Amino acid sequence: MPELPDLVILRERLLPELLGKKIRSIEILDPIVVRNLTGMPPEDSYKDLPLLSLERRGPFLNFTFEKMNMVIHPMLSGRFSMDPKYKKKDLCVRIATEGPVLNYADDTRMGKVYFLKNEELDQIPKYKEQGVDILSGEFTLSVFLKTIEKSRQQIRAFLMDQSKLSALGNAYADEVLFAAKIHPKTPCNRLSPGEKSGVYESIRKVLTDSIEYIRAKNAPLDVKVRDHVKVRNRKNEPCPDCGTTIRRANVLGYDSFFCPVCQPAKGEQFIPWNSQENPPEVN
Ligand SMILES: [Zn+2]
Repeated sequence: MPELPDLVILRERLLPELLGKKIRSIEILDPIVVRNLTGMPPEDSYKDLPLLSLERRGPFLNFTFEKMNMVIHPMLSGRFSMDPKYKKKDLCVRIATEGPVLNYADDTRMGKVYFLKNEELDQIPKYKEQGVDILSGEFTLSVFLKTIEKSRQQIRAFLMDQSKLSALGNAYADEVLFAAKIHPKTPCNRLSPGEKSGVYESIRKVLTDSIEYIRAKNAPLDVKVRDHVKVRNRKNEPCPDCGTTIRRANVLGYDSFFCPVCQPAKGEQFIPWNSQENPPEVN
């Protein structure tokens, strides 16, 4: 579930509740998601350690306790809750503090919870390899243009390459390309300078607008807010801009949703959507 805007809001909401609070207990309900790199059982070794900070790094949340870090990579389906009565089957880790309880649940068990020391963070796959944080001040137009300049990747794969941009997931990669009016399979080196700037502006605008929307919605912590998306998971619905039926394509193993009229394909290797009554599925 969580993508960048979700994680920004999660951090905003968890931090004031948990900052400075001491751990009372750590319960591992499903060890399959846990990587304990400290060599010590978190259940009893970390009692009374206070939370010193909570930072986001790309798709990771880094809870820094005194003497120990807990890094959560929620992947597609990780969810958080502070409900002390949370008893659902997907509960994986429960941390009781002297204040609230933090539950981490994941029904697909694709996410990971790492317990480790601060100096061991680079042992987490992809943690150190994150590219420029697209919500940071470092993510300027010139940095973006330099990053995309030599790429021959399809734009959707480029947007989701966390070693370049940290980090867009499936939903917001689709939303960015819809906002920029770019077909998801367009190779980066076929984009005009104006289109590249448009992609940059779209990343900034889509993320900023989504963060504001999710913040204002103030939904329960474990509820995914996605009703604002325009094309993601909206196959066969009308495009909000032109009314054309939204399509789904497979881009290097990932489903991508787009409007074939607002986001026309470049070049003859693409199926001419607009001239066919019932265009086939793109592969
Ligand atoms: Zn459209």
